[in-house]
Amino acid sequence: MLPSPKLTKTGTTIFAVMTALAQEHGAINLSQGFPNFDCPKPLKDLVSKHMALGHNQYAPTPGLPELQDVLAAKIERLYGLQLDARREITITAGGTQALFTAIAALVYPGDEVILFEPAYDSYAPAVEIQGGRVLPYALQAPDYQIDWQEVEQLIGPRTRMLVVNTPHNPCARVFRREDMLALQRLAEEHDLLVLSDEVYEHILFDDLEHHSAMSFPQLYARSLVVFSFGKLFNNTGWKMGYCVAPPYLTERFRQVHQFNVFSVNRPIQHALAEYMQNPAVYEGIRPLFEDLRNSMYKALEATPFKALPCEGTYFMLCDYSAVSDMDDLAFAKWLTIEHGLASIPLSPFYTQPPKDSRIIRLCFAKTKDVLQQAGEVLQGVLGSA
Ligand code: PMP
Ligand code: GLN
Repeated sequence: MLPSPKLTKTGTTIFAVMTALAQEHGAINLSQGFPNFDCPKPLKDLVSKHMALGHNQYAPTPGLPELQDVLAAKIERLYGLQLDARREITITAGGTQALFTAIAALVYPGDEVILFEPAYDSYAPAVEIQGGRVLPYALQAPDYQIDWQEVEQLIGPRTRMLVVNTPHNPCARVFRREDMLALQRLAEEHDLLVLSDEVYEHILFDDLEHHSAMSFPQLYARSLVVFSFGKLFNNTGWKMGYCVAPPYLTERFRQVHQFNVFSVNRPIQHALAEYMQNPAVYEGIRPLFEDLRNSMYKALEATPFKALPCEGTYFMLCDYSAVSDMDDLAFAKWLTIEHGLASIPLSPFYTQPPKDSRIIRLCFAKTKDVLQQAGEVLQGVLGSA
């Protein structure tokens, strides 16, 4: 007989549930976050080239030096941090693995970890598996701002870490400089670690600036910063990412990483290192997503669904309270089955879901024809729920 499960919420992740439901019902899939367009052909060609060259055996555990170097150059250009690429950058099998490994390496049984909810769904289970306890800070619609004094009140002697995410999935909000400074002050004064999920660093709009934890030296001194190539180059299926942290944290991270994955896909690391020599390949992605964000706003205009402000990521929240009183999970399933449009309900992003939330998340990393079709579906929903 097994003891009780390590995870108290044992269901399947909402992303897999909604994508499967969308497929079953042939629905437009604006649920799980992935683009319906392909990753750049030159990058795919480079992967083929490096496979053909025979770069097919294990990579070094921390990652390929060429890729570490190109990332260090990017970080210096964008965030002004000069780091030791060998000792501070680790290539991972996607952002999720980096987040899990960071938590496994640094959260001890009984430790408390502050999450800003709704929070990306992998954080809380990773904390729970380590025997840690989640301290949720509830962000409130429609602006989802953080009152850092309230956050400070959550901190106790067992608090080890804060997990932050900017641009934020699912709220689509971007931290301001003042947020980062407040975070830095709290982390320093209370001796906390920060896990900063920055996988959408290049997907933000309206001239907003990405404030990385790496731009604030005292904050970086106690941070692990996580990125995903899947979000950068539209290849979420490749599951490639990286973690940047000062050497004393990277050492702990790699202790776990070496027994978790040991090392990561080698031909893709060669390809990324070569492709990213040219900064235009990542600097060019912002206008594309801003245009799609605007199309999503437009598609929602003539519908009873109310778009919430979207500052970054490729997700938009919308309020369906003019349409239905159903809870969000029931509503998202109903919308998929009855109207052929799949979305993501927000309740799985909470430790304790709020009772009366009538908000779903739509992914707009889709071609414009799909966004337009989605708008037409949503126009037809009024009065039928
Ligand atoms: N963090 C956030 C906020 C995400 O939305 C995602 C999904 N891309 C991840 C982490 C995980 O990234 P990956 O797909 O590379 O594991
Ligand atoms: N990050 C993606 C999202 O938020 C999905 C990742 C996943 O399916 N695990 O939808």
